[in-house]
Amino acid sequence: MKLDKFILGTVKEVPSDAEISSHQLMIRAGMIRKVASGTYAYLPLGLRVIHKIIEIVRQEMDAAGAQEVLLPIVQPMELWQATGRDQDYGQTLGYFTDRHGRENVLSPTAEEVMTVVGANEISSYKQLPVNLYQINTKYRDEFRPRFGVLRSREFIMKDAYSFDADEIMLEQSYRNMYNAYCNVFKRCGVEYVIVEAEAGEMGGSGSHQFTVPCESGEDVIVYTEDLAYAANIEKAAVDPLSPEAKPADIQAITEIHTPGSGAVESVCAFLKTTPDKMIKCMIYVFGPENKTLACLVRGDHELNPEKLTQALGGTAPELAPEDIVERLTGAKIGYAGPVGLFDKVDRVFIDHGVAALAVGYAGANKTEYHIGNVVPGRDFPLAGADITVLDIRNAAQGDTWQGKRLLFKRGIEVGQVFKLGDKYSKKLGAEYLDESGKRQTCLMGCYGIGINRIMASAIELSHDADGIIWPISIAPFEVLVTTANPNDEQVAAAAEKIYQELLEKDIDVAYDDRNQRAGVKFKDADLIGIPLRITVGRKTLDNGQVEIKVRRQSESQLVDLDMAVDTALDKITELWQELIIEED
Ligand code: ATP
Ligand code: MG
Repeated sequence: MKLDKFILGTVKEVPSDAEISSHQLMIRAGMIRKVASGTYAYLPLGLRVIHKIIEIVRQEMDAAGAQEVLLPIVQPMELWQATGRDQDYGQTLGYFTDRHGRENVLSPTAEEVMTVVGANEISSYKQLPVNLYQINTKYRDEFRPRFGVLRSREFIMKDAYSFDADEIMLEQSYRNMYNAYCNVFKRCGVEYVIVEAEAGEMGGSGSHQFTVPCESGEDVIVYTEDLAYAANIEKAAVDPLSPEAKPADIQAITEIHTPGSGAVESVCAFLKTTPDKMIKCMIYVFGPENKTLACLVRGDHELNPEKLTQALGGTAPELAPEDIVERLTGAKIGYAGPVGLFDKVDRVFIDHGVAALAVGYAGANKTEYHIGNVVPGRDFPLAGADITVLDIRNAAQGDTWQGKRLLFKRGIEVGQVFKLGDKYSKKLGAEYLDESGKRQTCLMGCYGIGINRIMASAIELSHDADGIIWPISIAPFEVLVTTANPNDEQVAAAAEKIYQELLEKDIDVAYDDRNQRAGVKFKDADLIGIPLRITVGRKTLDNGQVEIKVRRQSESQLVDLDMAVDTALDKITELWQELIIEED
């Protein structure tokens, strides 16, 4: 590819909403352009990366025995209603009504449609296992699209779905995809860690998340130093805190006037105490009958909605609206507390951390009042028919799991695998006839990878002050040939010759034949991050040499003109070497 007529699109300005390196660099390097909040156009350079990632994913899916199909992005709402996921996805689900009044969903994922496709094509145990996948656009009306293509509204996902006869086969399909994912990330040159994850809206029984460790990630992963345990924060379990020693003479509850916002920090400042002595009380509603749930966690702890959902058997609770909170507590939001409240709600969840407190402060169920000297077990019960003490909070610094200290790291989720069981197959009739001719429900797994997220993660992991440093497997080009003096005919001829020879060797090479100053061309080369650059210039050519530079190394090397192509080929092989999967 010659760059003279290529839409290169490198720019100097960084848009103000681009907070992280990958977002800034993708725009500066002319990979993407923003169309609207959370939607992007890919320019030629960016699309080349996308295509390379897709090709790696496709090869690994095919090698794992999965078969590619293509499903519609516009899907009938009825299918989503059949599984109840029209509700579960909430406002993230994009939909529209067509001219005939039919409701359609813009696919955020495709369990429903793929299950129906599988149900039609699968009839006998002899066909199983089957794994069908697609690579296409997904739409999610994300509450807060940000970080460029890391969290966009439209994105490209590879989603695969396995249909299995029993648990053992499902486990094999799951492991098979798990291993294929390891290959994908290795080949794309992105570092990753695998952690246990919560199944979220997908449902099902087991899940792992593939996470690229980096500071700008929105996910938090939690692990023990020996890595015997690793989970994302939504899932990470914590040991119950040991009960605090109770002082001998705790006074009776006292009511304290606490004017102000009711927020933990301001109340603590007022009471001259710390958040770990506060008992936060939050009211939720859940289920079709809108039952009420009071949740107690320590003021310094964060409630974990996924753990609440698990504890409610898969029903996601929602924070109760103001009028319900006011009716139950008799106070404005911010002043709810456990004392005297439990009889008025349907369920009570008390975090272990609250149960372990010797004495603390809580809301008084009276606007602008708190109470002190609150003793769990004395002033409110820790057991009862609808009262449970359990783990409902996020792991925090200082916590342990199975006695081992928990550590924390931020990361970007690039892929996730799920065992779905019969959640979709049962509702949508994916069945097969077993050996004895009996009808059985398929078990399923689903497996997603974010193509754009891999691209942005690779940049997060590998860039410097000058620009991107692509792993060679997903770089827009493997080599960039450039000229320092484009108007010099000899220089141009030497560069053209190297370019042609590399093309003949099937190398993905770009030739920067633009009539630009050398400085501009070098800056662009560093910015777009092509792994290897060959520069032909008057000065070196006078000595019969050209310059070869590996993008991620600081030093360049001069080689004889007639050795340029061979040296480049060696370096290319070296760069590829570390991304190759060894067969065992
Ligand atoms: P998140 O928790 O980040 O919202 P998710 O768990 O909802 O993601 P999945 O349903 O597991 O996402 O989708 C599979 C993959 O699709 C994710 O692992 C991620 O790589 C990608 N993905 C999901 N949402 C987005 C998005 N808004 N923008 C870009 N990629 C996304
Ligand atoms: Mg996920």
